[in-house]
Amino acid sequence: MNAEIIAVGSELLTPQRIDTNSLWLTDQLNALGVEVTSKTIVGDHRERLAETVRAACARSDIVILTGGLGPTEDDVTRDAVAAALGRTQVFHQDICDGIEQRFRRFNRAMAEINKRQAFVIEGAEVLPNPNGTAPGQWIEDGGRAAMLLPGPPNEMKPLFTGECLPRLQALLPPQVIRTQSYRIALMPESEVDQRIAPVYTKYTNPVTTILAAAGDIQIHLRARCSSEAEAESLLAEVGSQIETILGAWIYAKNADPLEAVVGHALRARAQTLSVAESCTGGLVAERITSVPGASDYFLGGFLTYTDRIKTELVGVPELLLREHTAVSEPVAEAMARGARERTGSTYALSVTGVAGPDGGAEATPVGTVIVGLAGPEACRTRRTRFLGDRDRVRALAAQLALDMLRRELLPSPRW
Ligand code: ATP
Ligand code: MG
Repeated sequence: MNAEIIAVGSELLTPQRIDTNSLWLTDQLNALGVEVTSKTIVGDHRERLAETVRAACARSDIVILTGGLGPTEDDVTRDAVAAALGRTQVFHQDICDGIEQRFRRFNRAMAEINKRQAFVIEGAEVLPNPNGTAPGQWIEDGGRAAMLLPGPPNEMKPLFTGECLPRLQALLPPQVIRTQSYRIALMPESEVDQRIAPVYTKYTNPVTTILAAAGDIQIHLRARCSSEAEAESLLAEVGSQIETILGAWIYAKNADPLEAVVGHALRARAQTLSVAESCTGGLVAERITSVPGASDYFLGGFLTYTDRIKTELVGVPELLLREHTAVSEPVAEAMARGARERTGSTYALSVTGVAGPDGGAEATPVGTVIVGLAGPEACRTRRTRFLGDRDRVRALAAQLALDMLRRELLPSPRW
């Protein structure tokens, strides 16, 4: 089944207000296995809204309207839906009494215009709204449904959850939805897609989506079936092929970011980490410490931005800096070794590079990044060049450092 959401309110067409109701509703509908195929924002205009509702009801199984149920002249949702469906409206004395009581509880008298909120579209079920004056309305017709919900999110959400959700569940064919996600570091989105497309394009169920951020790709599989066992088996069938193709590129089989994966591994091994950062200016330490409980394994770090501080804080020999420059493998190695020695950590990561936009040289063009990893056995370095602006180079450098440690700690994937 598909659904369509109509947000009503001229204020939602101004730059000051955004329609957040439809985002929340989309999440709720997706969890039911219902896809949202269209969203519209319509101002407080009776005829225009009626036209939108008419089109929506003609093409969608489920139509949800939010807003415009208030008592004033510009609240036109009831009238517009009634007009679109060719139905009349019926005055409900009990709703009117309820609104009056609500006003009395707040020591106020009900204004005459509030009576407008006691009108219900012919054949609609009234959905009580304990958090506001305007009740919602549910209209069902031959397995399809339209619903009118109040605009304020604190009224709309409980009303949807309490009244609409159970009605929708009864309307929908029984189905379960199971999802599986994978995270991949530092492989371009186009390459991830190229590698796994031969697998996922063969399946319409599960549905595969690829979400890309700088240096971090998420693959989501979503299976919709009539039983849990069937959904799980479909996910396993497609997932195992993706795992075979991407192998150790996959750093998580859930939503955990790289810093959490590295943190779990260090904690499990009772090992510790320190960092010495130059071009990332603390981004690696920031990510590691964003994970609650990081003090179990993260000892601290050094922000060694200039040559002098590299020497003073982590003991990089001056000669090395003069001979090789700060952006070089020997210096990255000396930074990592120095951080490890001075903190006594099991591992130490170092990052040096040219984030740009200036400062590039022939041997080290803008975007050059060298990461060092010192451990109990050896110290390794990796040089790469990232394309993009300063922010992107720095973010990718931090990602590379964390991924290098992840591959050291978890050389073969955990699955
Ligand atoms: P009321 O009875 O309070 O007037 P209503 O159903 O008429 O309720 P609106 O007047 O359309 O609702 O909206 C009231 C407020 O609710 C808006 O000022 C806005 O803050 C919020 N609101 C309305 N629609 C949305 C939406 N789609 N997303 C987020 N907030 C919304
Ligand atoms: Mg209103």
